[in-house]
Amino acid sequence: RIVYINGEYINEHDAKVSIFDRGFLFADAVYEVTAVINGKLVDNEGHMARLTRSCHELQLTLPIKVEEIARIQNELIRLNQITEGGVYLQLTRGSDGDREFGFPEDAQPTLVMFTQSRSLLDSQKAKEGLKVMTIEDIRWHRRDIKTTQLLASALAKQAAHDQGFDDAWLTENGYITEGSSNNAYIVTADDTVVTRPLSNDILHGITRAALMKLAEEKQIKVEERLFTPEEAMSAKEAFISSATTFVYPVVKINDKVISDGKPGPMANRLRDIYIELAVKQTS
Ligand code: PMP
Repeated sequence: RIVYINGEYINEHDAKVSIFDRGFLFADAVYEVTAVINGKLVDNEGHMARLTRSCHELQLTLPIKVEEIARIQNELIRLNQITEGGVYLQLTRGSDGDREFGFPEDAQPTLVMFTQSRSLLDSQKAKEGLKVMTIEDIRWHRRDIKTTQLLASALAKQAAHDQGFDDAWLTENGYITEGSSNNAYIVTADDTVVTRPLSNDILHGITRAALMKLAEEKQIKVEERLFTPEEAMSAKEAFISSATTFVYPVVKINDKVISDGKPGPMANRLRDIYIELAVKQTS
């Protein structure tokens, strides 16, 4: 695979980052993952806007313009002949060759990007639905910033896997925040989609934003409010969204099967209309 690192396109085995890099030492870094369909980026403007915001919140300076980043992403797609999958991007504060908590004055940021080839449109998980387990959200309080500080999420996902679940839904003060790497939704008996409002408590999903807009266009009722694991477990449907899963139905939460245990019509419909939009955007 050809990857990008600080202005160069090179073989993945030749791409090297310093052991003093603050991305490595402090998770002082931000990232984005953009889906690829038909060899083209999906909703990349949204991802670039969030990247710009994450950088701003951390006083990180993007070394190149977002238009230039998009050009590099597309070049990687071409070089690696990706038709479906994703492009990962990470920007770190770099290093000045030592370990100090305060920001170094003369550090050059590290920018890396690489592609992942994976089938997205045809997904077994979308057909079967996910089993999710709820677990305490032990992440920091700026989950709106997309940092590479992902250990709490990795621990939550691993705990879920260890207990036979596909993923974890995180809870704080008795309410669901979001999934370990996705936004969380339920559907009430009167077909209202419920999801947590945007705040510093969750990542502002680019897919979430697209779904909110599509729901409005299709006159699907949406309520942005908190919901508990108990409400979720007795909901009519549940589902998640993220850039590379689009929409996956959730068919079980903890020991409770959701409705008849099959992907629900609202989750299926939102997946279909999101994919329709993404395919249109990329063809
Ligand atoms: N929440 C978290 C914690 C995530 O890691 C992700 C995936 N980046 C999302 C939500 C979904 O965001 P997006 O739709 O932009 O992929």
